[in-house]
Amino acid sequence: MGNRLVILGGGESGVGAAVLAKKQGYDVFLSDSGVIQPGARALLDEHKVPFEEGMHTRSLIMTADQVVKSPGIPDTVPVVEDLNKAGIPVISEIEFAGRYTNARKICVTGSNGKTTTASLIYYLLRNAGLNAGLAGNVGQSFAYQVATQNYDIYVLELSSFQLEGMYDFKADIAILLNITPDHLDRYHHDLNEYVRAKFRITQNMDQDDCFIFCRDDEISMDHLSRIVLKAKMLPISQQVVIPQGAYTSDNRMHVTYGEEEFEIFLNELALQGKHNIYNSMAAALSAKVMHISNPVIRESLTSFKSIPHRMEQVARVKGALYINDSKATNVNSVWYAIESLKTPVVWIAGGKDKGNDYTPLYDLVSEKVKALICLGADNKKLHDCFEGRVPCIIETNSMKDAVNQAYALAQSGDTVLLSPACASFDLFKNYEDRGDKFREAVRGL
Ligand code: ADP
Repeated sequence: MGNRLVILGGGESGVGAAVLAKKQGYDVFLSDSGVIQPGARALLDEHKVPFEEGMHTRSLIMTADQVVKSPGIPDTVPVVEDLNKAGIPVISEIEFAGRYTNARKICVTGSNGKTTTASLIYYLLRNAGLNAGLAGNVGQSFAYQVATQNYDIYVLELSSFQLEGMYDFKADIAILLNITPDHLDRYHHDLNEYVRAKFRITQNMDQDDCFIFCRDDEISMDHLSRIVLKAKMLPISQQVVIPQGAYTSDNRMHVTYGEEEFEIFLNELALQGKHNIYNSMAAALSAKVMHISNPVIRESLTSFKSIPHRMEQVARVKGALYINDSKATNVNSVWYAIESLKTPVVWIAGGKDKGNDYTPLYDLVSEKVKALICLGADNKKLHDCFEGRVPCIIETNSMKDAVNQAYALAQSGDTVLLSPACASFDLFKNYEDRGDKFREAVRGL
């Protein structure tokens, strides 16, 4: 293969790929149809990577021998269609970086819980004294770390978009937490296509590798019944006993891998809530596969600090607890959020709807939610779906207004929960911005 490598997208992953490609001696060019942030531009200049922004110049791009595409760019944009037609290989940054490291790779995917689980595993590995890096959707890109660090193990958080552009990459431990409809707008509203993208995490695995998956997840199990995998199969479940893998019974989590066993009481876990039990099981099980000792696993699972914007307790105001779950950008994560609460809920939701089906929430919302505050540029769908199911629905289009309305409605002992079920791009820069504005507004009360 020739030496010209073109990178589409000048975000975290694109710039990381550029730095690594330069180091590997490629003739690199980076192209972004939007604006490249000043920090990224400085890094490209520092590494002498030529780039363009605000356009995709075909004469500079179609000469590529291979292309690394940012996961944010769909296959349907014209430049990618042109590349595909011309037969020029288009891969993801993870695939590219994977070629230049011999480190072991623990890869985490799923519709929900990726960042939490990947961060928890990383915490476990570091506590065990291992030379580990954390990359993928979190922090610095995998490619940048491969170019500048020398880790023995990586924990990689992989979205379905990253997995799509992966071909020869192989995980040593792959974790698929769950599959619920999300991002279906990018998959022609075809759930199967999304499921297949998620299952790419298992590609190329052989009998020495481990696949951790959720035995209680119907969509995962349905797909698994139709494929054959060589990897060691390690299920996790909160419903049935699992001889090799992890399960819960008698308020305890049991983990078994080969001859090794680990047990902990559920109320000792730092991360509470049913969803987090799955995350802790997956993390503990991967730790056992890595032969980490039980005392280190116990210490880590009990001392891990939850990460911002995920069921983050912000403050108690006039006896009501305010929780920032801005990262809950789909229906399933909202289900777990409301399910974990034992009090009446004032629920702030809405934003950019990705084709949501709200029916799985109906029973839980009728039971627990006393008021729904819609927060979006267009609140019609959300309002219509919950009309008659919640005693009070209010429409707002700013965070300050939403929090003030919640304050007026919440009584002592209630929970005010920001758990939007939608993307944030209609009113905010991203979910962090939305969560930050929530925190600010709550502190202003
Ligand atoms: P991701 O990185 O996959 O988006 P996060 O760990 O950032 O996942 O969590 C996103 C949201 O999903 C949070 O609101 C959290 O409460 C919820 N969540 C976390 N783990 C799970 C899980 N295993 N199943 C369902 N929901 C979860």
